[in-house]
Amino acid sequence: MLAVSELVALRPPRRGLPRSDRAQLRGFSRDELRAWAQRELGAPAFRGDQMFEWLHGRRIGSADAMTNLSHADRSRLASLADFERLQLDLCATAADGTRKLRLRGALGAVFESVLIPNPGRGYTLCISSMVGCSLTCRFCATATLGFDRNLATWEIVDQVYQAQDLLEREAVETGAKWTARITNLVFMGMGEPLHNYGQVKRAIELLSDPKGAGISRRRITVSSAGLVPAIERFGREGLAEDVGLAISLNATTDATRDAIMPINTRWNIATLLDAIRGLPPARRRRVTFEYVLLAGVNDSDDDATRLAALVSEFDCIVNVIPFNPHSGTALRRPAPERIRGFVTRCRAAGLAVHVRTPRGDDIGAACGQLALEA
Ligand code: SF4
Repeated sequence: MLAVSELVALRPPRRGLPRSDRAQLRGFSRDELRAWAQRELGAPAFRGDQMFEWLHGRRIGSADAMTNLSHADRSRLASLADFERLQLDLCATAADGTRKLRLRGALGAVFESVLIPNPGRGYTLCISSMVGCSLTCRFCATATLGFDRNLATWEIVDQVYQAQDLLEREAVETGAKWTARITNLVFMGMGEPLHNYGQVKRAIELLSDPKGAGISRRRITVSSAGLVPAIERFGREGLAEDVGLAISLNATTDATRDAIMPINTRWNIATLLDAIRGLPPARRRRVTFEYVLLAGVNDSDDDATRLAALVSEFDCIVNVIPFNPHSGTALRRPAPERIRGFVTRCRAAGLAVHVRTPRGDDIGAACGQLALEA
């Protein structure tokens, strides 16, 4: 393992966001679409609302499909705008029903989403915000990819639309009476979402619009490894009012967190917890702490006691996630009895703990594994 001083907390991207002469309308907000329709088509603003419904409600891939626009508007749209969609190039299904989608975006970028069935209540989709990651968490397969670039807004929202398209195709193939819906979204795939703040914020606005995917903001959670300035911004801006925040904590001492999450050398545990204290009170009550349990690293009874001392003031939920092993690291998942021992100690100290069952072990569901293979 590298010495802490050799580690870089934040990596720069290899590439910027993909640029095109044509407008990628799927990344436009509703107001931007209304203004664009007026400016470029000489049309009334409500044409922008119609375009919004085609792009986000019906997930169309060309101007031709917008049948309530005139032929002249459609051909001008086709010449000015880009309707590119992601390519689904691999769908791996696990025995437990979890599906991992490997997707290709602009300029051949490869990234992943994970579609997780919630028995009786639709699906949760775990989506990516970057190609690779700007951070270097030692337990993470994505980190080994380096940081290629941030995802554009349309590449973030189309992950949801690709997964919904897949569910619709399956409903047709199986003759199901209704199509299962994606009800919950978590930004816990590839990338640190708060380091791609602008695109993630815009994507949340698009995905929660009732004329689009219509996913309630209260069912959307953004996970952060502890990017303190962006967490403060999350609190200052509208996001904190109703979007969930999950903090990937994973250690109870700075020495251990420095070693497994180098961002901690920049913003340590005390600074991170201070940023959470600064969130609006309603949000602060609902913070989730993620704790990836690593054998011999952060899974002792003393860790459990320290964890309770660190976070119990927040009246929070702690998600304990037994590590999902992958080929990029020698770290291991603790034995079942150690997991039980850790959780028992946390609960005895008063913490509300959920153990997140490892999903899709047989398809490499640890974030970044399929992209790594590509
Ligand atoms: S765990 Fe998340 S923040 Fe850390 S390197 Fe992996 S993708 Fe990035």
